[in-house]
Amino acid sequence: MDSIIRIENLTFEYKKGEETEPVRALDNVNLNIERGSFTAILGKNGSGKSTFAKNLNGLLVPTEGVIYVNGYDTSDDEHIWDVRQSAGMVFQNPDNQLVSAIVEDDVAFGPENLGIESSEIRRRVDKALSDVNMGAFKGKPPHLLSGGQKQRVAIAGVVAMKPSCIIFDEPTAMLDPKGRNEIMNIIEELHDEGITVVLITHFMEEAVHADRVIIMHDGKVFLDGKPEEVFAQKEKVLSVNLDIPLAVELADKLREKGIDVPKDIIGMEEMVEYLCQYE
Ligand code: ADP
Ligand code: MG
Repeated sequence: MDSIIRIENLTFEYKKGEETEPVRALDNVNLNIERGSFTAILGKNGSGKSTFAKNLNGLLVPTEGVIYVNGYDTSDDEHIWDVRQSAGMVFQNPDNQLVSAIVEDDVAFGPENLGIESSEIRRRVDKALSDVNMGAFKGKPPHLLSGGQKQRVAIAGVVAMKPSCIIFDEPTAMLDPKGRNEIMNIIEELHDEGITVVLITHFMEEAVHADRVIIMHDGKVFLDGKPEEVFAQKEKVLSVNLDIPLAVELADKLREKGIDVPKDIIGMEEMVEYLCQYE
């Protein structure tokens, strides 16, 4: 298997000062992310998800252990731009990610930092804005956009750097349902185009269409598997204060009534399809 990200014995501690004990946010994490895969990461607040995300693109470097992104050690200063270019990050709050007065300048910011030639930057900016359906907003100031539109511009800025992998840290948390749907559709399209996706989310429904679900708890990997395998372990999922997707709950209730719902039905759309055959 071809792993784009390899994580070996990753421990990360926040050190506040000499007197206070360091906070261990990640504790001996070992995992690989396969090229082209879609991984969802779940976990309650404080479980270490954001710290994990920032370690994946070198914004933070391990206290112990090592991470390779596209073969580059994230703690190797010489390759920090290779790491940042390979693994782009999209954060929760779009307001903190936009830096320019005009949408297209914002999207150009990343490629400019990579030293890319200006005609190529223009091509990439146009393509990235069209990928997120924001082409019409090219010359607009970001502050006039809705939260969902700003988040789409932030995604375009990452896409314009042509990353192999994008790490999304709760990108829909501040959006309304419509904005959330649009962002999820864009993430799925980017994945279809071959980008490796790591999606941190607290919406179970966003995790059901991933290839893999990882649940974090207290800085450790608590569960890791196919979504249908992870969500089948209901008691364990509930024990770390997470929910079970609605369709999985429904499937359980239907099974109690003797209807043999297949195990791989964990999303709402598939459940509706399945139930329609009883019409
Ligand atoms: P999550 O994203 O899952 O909510 P975080 O990675 O933000 O989790 O936090 C993991 C742990 O690290 C928590 O105990 C949190 O309080 C602590 N932590 C996060 N950021 C900092 C920081 N900048 N300084 C000190 N401790 C932090
Ligand atoms: Mg977080």
